Order: sequence, then C-alpha cells, then structure tokens
Amino acid sequence: MTEKNFPLDEKALREVIKKYPTPFHLYDEKKIRENFRRLRDTFSWAAEFREYFAVKALPNPHIVKILAADGAGTDCSSLAELMISEMANVTGEKIMLTSNDTPANEFQKALELGAIINLDDITHIEYLEKNAGLPKVLSFRYNPADIMNNGNDIIGKPAEAKYGLTRQQIFDAYQIAKNKGVKRFGLHTMIASNERETETFLYTAQIMFELAVEIKNRIGINLEFVNLGGGFGIPYRPEENPVDYKAIGAGICELYKKILVPNGLEKIRIATESGRAITGDAGWLVSTVIHEKNTYKNYIGLDSCMANLMRPALYGAYHHITILGKENFDCDKIYDVTGSLCENNDKFAINRKLPKIDIGDILIIHDTGAHGHAMGFNYNGKLRSAELLLRENGEIELIRRAETLDDYFATLI
Ligand SMILES: *Cc1c(COP(=O)(O)O)cnc(C)c1O
Repeated sequence: MTEKNFPLDEKALREVIKKYPTPFHLYDEKKIRENFRRLRDTFSWAAEFREYFAVKALPNPHIVKILAADGAGTDCSSLAELMISEMANVTGEKIMLTSNDTPANEFQKALELGAIINLDDITHIEYLEKNAGLPKVLSFRYNPADIMNNGNDIIGKPAEAKYGLTRQQIFDAYQIAKNKGVKRFGLHTMIASNERETETFLYTAQIMFELAVEIKNRIGINLEFVNLGGGFGIPYRPEENPVDYKAIGAGICELYKKILVPNGLEKIRIATESGRAITGDAGWLVSTVIHEKNTYKNYIGLDSCMANLMRPALYGAYHHITILGKENFDCDKIYDVTGSLCENNDKFAINRKLPKIDIGDILIIHDTGAHGHAMGFNYNGKLRSAELLLRENGEIELIRRAETLDDYFATLI
C-alpha cells in the first residue's frame, strides 16, 4: 500500500492558484532530494556510484540543479537535453549521452561538453568518428534479447525493442573501439521500465556483471562502469507496493562480490539513469473542473488535457486523483475524467470511483513528476502548462511559465 500525499494544505494551494491559474504541475524539492538520496544509499556499498538523472523525465534545469547539488549527473538523449544539462552546469563526464538513431549534431555537442557517449549501435562507432570524433569514454548499450518476465507494456520485449547491440555485436564493438585507440569504457543496458520487482533488477545486474567479466577475458578491457539503466518504478496505484530498495541494494551487492570482485573488477562504478523514481511521485498536475456532462456516462471536464499529461491516453496508465477538500469523502460516484481534445482517449481516468464532484472543484492528479509535462504536445492548439517548484523553505517558484498562443503561432510564416 502507498499513501497518496500532496505537499500543501487546502488554504496554501488556494493561495497558489490565485497567483498561478490552473492547470499547472507542482514539484516538491524535498521529495525529489529524498528520492535521490534513497537511490544513492541503495548503492552506498559500491566502490563508486553515480546516478545520471534521466533529463527527459523532467527536462527543466532548475530540477537538474537540485540533483546536481547532491552529486547527480545527467542522462541525455537529445541536443536539447544536453543543453539543459549545460544550463544546470552539469558537464564533462557527469553527462552520459544515451540516445538512439542519433543525429551528428548531438554527438558533436556531447563531445564538446566532454560527455560519456553511450552508443546504441555498432555502426555508430564509425558514424561518431566521422562526424564528431571519438570520445575519451565510450560505452555500449546491450540488448539481451530475452528477460525473465518478457518486459512490460512501456518498453516491450528486449528482442523486439529497437535499442542496443546484440551479444555478438557487443564484443565486436569493444574490439573495434579498442583498435581505434579508445582506452576507457563502460557498459549500459536499460531493459525495464516502471518495474517494481526486485528480481528484475537482480537479474539485470547479474547478466551485466557476467558480461563485464566476459569482456575483460575476451577483449582485455577493464570496464570503468556498468550502467544498469533507469526503470525503477513507482506505485501509481495506492494498492501497489513501492520498490524494495534495500533488497535490491543487498542483492546487487552480493552479485558484485560474487561475480566482479573475484575477477579483478572490484573498482567498477555502478551507475543508474533513473528518472521516474526521482521525480515521478514528487509532481502533481493541478486542474479545475469546468464541466460536468451526463449522457450514457458521467463526465467531468477539466481545464487541462493530454497536452499536460498523456500517460493515461498513451499507455492506459493509472494516475491517482484526489479532490481538494474532499480527500476523506466517500468515493460513491463513477466518472470519466476528461480533457478537451477532439480525441476520445483524452481522459485522465475511466470509470473512476470518486466523491461527488462539483464544477469549480480542484482536482489533484498524482505522480505526474516524470514523463508528465515533458511529453506534452500541441495538438488542437492546446498549450502546455506552467511548472511550479515548492522549495524546501516553503516558497513557490515558477520554473516554467505556461505557453501562450504567441508561442504557438511563433513558427508560422
Ligand atoms: C527513459 C529512459 C530512462 C529513464 O527511465 P525511467 O523509467 O524514468 O527511470 C533512462 N535511460 C534511458 C535510456 C531511457 O530511455
């Protein structure tokens, strides 16, 4: 079970809404820091650990700065994300570029910033060399083809996913890069998304550690790091349990001692590139009810839409909803909670049991801090909302203003 909280009381939130009209995403600095520290503590036994925050989850330099102050780096997968990292003064080997189908200008920017470059394909060695040059530290993304539970809806089965190199290509790639004079290497994978099972993370660590040993034995490369990727899940539903970080930490530590240490790889840095687990439950979309419609079903219409949060429509994802001031009321009504797009799947919830809702009520949609605002788009000319940050000292800071129609029309010729 997971309790669903909101960091402001009713009076405080109503004050915020007076200044910043809904909809907006609100992020909680304290919670973000706690989440980061929990992940760091999970790997405190390792010779070295680094979290490269997956910028795509919440691409705002103010957030990156919070994490960087605690020692986190960034995981970037586009030119814009590299620039966000730079804006937050995170540069050099604190950046890991993990992209795919990568354009030359991303490689060039990554090289300019001194980032660790993680290649998604064997052909990218030559492409990178030709278009940007080879970096000091090179890593490859491994696709293990099969994983035990066959993957979940978000990322799919590894063998059918577009990411990474095959097992044979991994060995060939390190050999080619070594022959070209690259001296420092890492290894990466990302095979799960929104995963909460301990076993999956232990399995990932095991195949990665075994591969690191094989790379040492076959190619003569002592890897500097193994990046286990992101994918640490959060309990979106109140009845779900959170990730057991203690069990994962203890289990991976055991594998480290069993597989890496006896093979002379006791200095390997453990890396993660978590997004969701850092900011997911530290964000909320706050929206106002503007319509109630009763036809064959009962609909509650919000002043927000998929432009502000598309996970429910995209993956059928569950996001918990509470109503300001009615948190303890009985959930004795059933509603579809909708946005305003001309798309029937523009719904935040379907057949959701909620207390009786009135026009003007403030709805709080939970766990929107990762892959929420960031996924927004402008279909129907709908605009993306503002982002607010609740600082640890209680102050509310506007960290991104809402889009305006001028923004929307700015690209017209
Ligand atoms: C999306 C992504 C992440 C972050 O995933 P989370 O589920 O937010 O932890 C990390 N690495 C790569 C390569 C990704 O594509």
